[in-house]
Amino acid sequence: MVLSQPTSQSFAQPFAQTPAPAPDASATDRMIFGRILALAAGDPVRSMTRALALTKVELAELAARHAPQFADTVAALADRTEFGEDAIEEADLRAFLVEHGADGTDEERWLAAILARRSLEPNHLWQDMGFHDRSELNAMFRRHFPALVAMNAGDMKWKKFFYRQLCEREGLVLCKSPNCEVCDDVEVCFGEEAGDPLSTLSRLARGG
Ligand code: SF4
Repeated sequence: MVLSQPTSQSFAQPFAQTPAPAPDASATDRMIFGRILALAAGDPVRSMTRALALTKVELAELAARHAPQFADTVAALADRTEFGEDAIEEADLRAFLVEHGADGTDEERWLAAILARRSLEPNHLWQDMGFHDRSELNAMFRRHFPALVAMNAGDMKWKKFFYRQLCEREGLVLCKSPNCEVCDDVEVCFGEEAGDPLSTLSRLARGG
């Protein structure tokens, strides 16, 4: 028996599709900034200002808008806590991120500073931002930096993507190949970023 091929007509829907509800932007921001502040508040070595490259005043405003559960922790910081010296590439990365923000908001400026500082850390970026998995990091980029999501359509690891962009701006070529598909480093640039959240790892390290 020969089965007939489905036609476009056979897939026609009898009713108009209801569009999926837009993600709740406020809830996304509460998730984003709650995760970030939770990790920084538990940093055993650095102050929150130094961990996130933001002043106490900026952190207080951020907490008031999106993470009031940390308002008291921020208020308890010493008034003149330093947010630390920039690493060499930090200012360029911050500027690159601000340039590609969605709306020029304070949130984008704060995230640019935080991302530039946290990109210096040794783990996957989603871990060093305090997120529970990479999908939360991607949700942050979709909400506040959609132009970067479009530029990184191949889903390159975000740290690799940042530094590749900065190098290209300087006319530097770090790639071993002109084509990712035939490059030996494809796993390094695009491989899976598996792992546990840093909050889980530090709890396990404490025997919790
Ligand atoms: S996979 Fe190779 S060519 Fe592609 S971005 Fe990485 S280093 Fe460059």
